[in-house]
Amino acid sequence: GSFEEMGLDARILRACKSVGFEKPTPVQASMIPAALMGRDVLAAAPTGSGKTAAFLLPILNSLVSRDAFGDGIVRAVILVPTRELCYQVAGVSRKLVKYAPQLSVRTLVRKSGDGSVPNADLLVATPSALAERLDNSAAQFDQVQFVVVDEADLVLSYGYDEDTRRSIASIPPSSQSMLVSASLGEDLDELKKLVLRKPMVIKI
Ligand code: AMP
Repeated sequence: GSFEEMGLDARILRACKSVGFEKPTPVQASMIPAALMGRDVLAAAPTGSGKTAAFLLPILNSLVSRDAFGDGIVRAVILVPTRELCYQVAGVSRKLVKYAPQLSVRTLVRKSGDGSVPNADLLVATPSALAERLDNSAAQFDQVQFVVVDEADLVLSYGYDEDTRRSIASIPPSSQSMLVSASLGEDLDELKKLVLRKPMVIKI
């Protein structure tokens, strides 16, 4: 399969080419079509597999093709375990929406900004940063349609269980969800139940 055959928006396809993504990696070939059909996804995929674009492409594609972007309403939330990964995922996102520049991508880490949640189409955040702002900003998540927990095993091993639970609870339960982890151990069971509904399970 190719990115073209997946039916991705022309602006997204152009961006893939410009960053040198010629053909989907195995995790992308499995995950993108499932996510484009609206399925929740549970993926065992390590760093280096192309997992970041695997969850970003279907989300960005949906936002861009519905022209539901650019109005500063948070529509997608990506939770990541570290500040570095937060900047990294936001960087990849910006490259992939280079040809839909009104689509805004913002990061949220602890001790950044003015204590509020930035208005952006796509928000990349650590669970701790999101949780500490929830009391004042819960209404900002009313329109969220997509949520991802990236490197879920690390999110848990860093002790972010409670912050993750609170963050997920602030997002509409109808959101399409993806959970990505290097391994799928029993420690993820609770988080899986909380986040996913009838997920497609993908192991790379
Ligand atoms: P990740 O597993 O998301 O950390 O990605 C690992 C690396 O693979 C990153 O440097 C990506 O830019 C690159 N990459 C992701 N998808 C593709 C693709 N379809 N073709 C070529 N490189 C890719």
